[in-house]
Amino acid sequence: MIDQIFDTLQRISQIVMVAVVIIAVVALAIDAFRNRGMPRVGGKIGRRTGLPGPPLPEGFSRVDSRAITIFVPAADAAPYETLRAYAREGTVPQQGLVHVYRVAACNTRIEIPAEPPGYPRIDASEALALLRELPDPRLVNRLHLTDEPSFLDPWVRKVTGHDIYSIGNANSAAVIVLYRPARRLGRELGLTLLHEWLHLVAFQSAKAIRRFKRADAVETLPPLAYEPVSFGDPRTALYEAWCVLGEKLLGYDEALARQAALASPVHTMILWRRIEKILRKAPKRLASTRLDEFKARGAFIRTEVAPKARATRTSYRWRRPWRSTTSQ
Ligand SMILES: [Zn+2]
Repeated sequence: MIDQIFDTLQRISQIVMVAVVIIAVVALAIDAFRNRGMPRVGGKIGRRTGLPGPPLPEGFSRVDSRAITIFVPAADAAPYETLRAYAREGTVPQQGLVHVYRVAACNTRIEIPAEPPGYPRIDASEALALLRELPDPRLVNRLHLTDEPSFLDPWVRKVTGHDIYSIGNANSAAVIVLYRPARRLGRELGLTLLHEWLHLVAFQSAKAIRRFKRADAVETLPPLAYEPVSFGDPRTALYEAWCVLGEKLLGYDEALARQAALASPVHTMILWRRIEKILRKAPKRLASTRLDEFKARGAFIRTEVAPKARATRTSYRWRRPWRSTTSQ
């Protein structure tokens, strides 16, 4: 009898498992069908061309020449009702060739158009130097440099009414795009890459992001300089607040980092804990070239910011019951 029940239960669990797999496969197929022909940020990488690649600079394990399809804006987004309609009809695919450099000791790839640019674009070594500044470059799957503007720009201009050009973008597939990364931009490029890298951190820090949001009840973050445009994710503004604070905490300006940390101690502690964990996990070979700077920031945060965060939290706890009695 017990054996029979056990058998039946086992069969049910097998059926459930098969059903779950089928549902997952169908969902993926529907998604692929809905997104077929849709432009993708960072383009679609194609096959190896067999053409000889450029010489291999130091710090890379290999370089290939590959075909790529990138997507460029063809029209003004004004006539389109939805982002989807604009993306499908207002953009055109463009075939090209990229050199794909694989960073030594990790899976990160840097993609650079083979075509010479009409401006002084940073090269593979300079892009690698920027990557190596990050707390852990391995979070980036593809760092894509492009000479074309983002196909999302016309949509952003339509929604915001401002004449805006994207300088960077990051997505959940760990692709970071730098748009027209001219050498003269200098540290602006480093900050853009850092900002986009913080988006990648946010994508994989669901718990910390929830805590970061809850901290709004205790402490008000300075308002964003611009309203971020959402492409469908309700957490866009939250992610942006995370990246803007992180960019200051990890940026090149020591005074600005301290000021930002002291102005928002509770949010800073949540974000910094994630960063410290990432710093600890990074292998020595790929340790940030700014590690000493980050360590000094960590020491400052522990001694000056953590007590302030604790005090803010404590005073909030004391304030709360008082509020609820007066509101009755
Ligand atoms: Zn952002």
